[in-house]
Amino acid sequence: MKLVLASNNRGKLAELQAMLAPLGVELIAQATLGVGEAEEPFHTFVENAMAKARFASAHTGLPALADDAGLCVNAFGGLPGVQTAHYATQFGYEKSDTNNVRALLEQMEGVQDRRAAMVSTLVAVRSPQDPEPLIAVGRVAGEIARAPRGTGGFGFDPVMILPAFGKTFAELPTEIKNAHSHRGQAAAQMLALMRAHWFAGDSKK
Ligand code: IMP
Repeated sequence: MKLVLASNNRGKLAELQAMLAPLGVELIAQATLGVGEAEEPFHTFVENAMAKARFASAHTGLPALADDAGLCVNAFGGLPGVQTAHYATQFGYEKSDTNNVRALLEQMEGVQDRRAAMVSTLVAVRSPQDPEPLIAVGRVAGEIARAPRGTGGFGFDPVMILPAFGKTFAELPTEIKNAHSHRGQAAAQMLALMRAHWFAGDSKK
């Protein structure tokens, strides 16, 4: 089965392709099929992921998978949330991972409640009007460090401390990160949902 991925991020394509391989799904990036970026005007991950999945399906005639992810900080009422990728630009910095981390540490200076979560929401639809979208949410709770630590990963990994390890994601080996990450959890749930809802009764899956 061909499934269009509503993202052009190669890293995500490879990761999700590997996770869905047991279903015999072939994941195709939407740009390969000439599809542009959908609008993401909503306040929640699930609404934006839904909009992206429906858009990709409508423009290709294929089933589609989309994800939306970000950082939710307790002390900020869950923000930056859907604005995570552009966080630094709110404070006059250029958009980049390094500036995002810098802006976050500045905004959290003097904040005692360091709790935060990385969240990944995946939505899959069989058609643009699918009344039963599959929704998988992965969430990893941690604490924001006072300064960056470690060299692995990307994004907020150098400041995201996993309490169970006492280390940031950037200090942990990739296998450990992936086994505990929001994205790994969401992809595992989505695999189970697809198997149960889309491939039920297909003895080969
Ligand atoms: P995206 O839309 O999934 O690419 O991510 C939204 C924002 O969350 C970007 O700023 C990413 O850098 C950040 N982000 C996503 N996944 C991770 C992660 O695994 N670790 C740290 N930051 C992440």
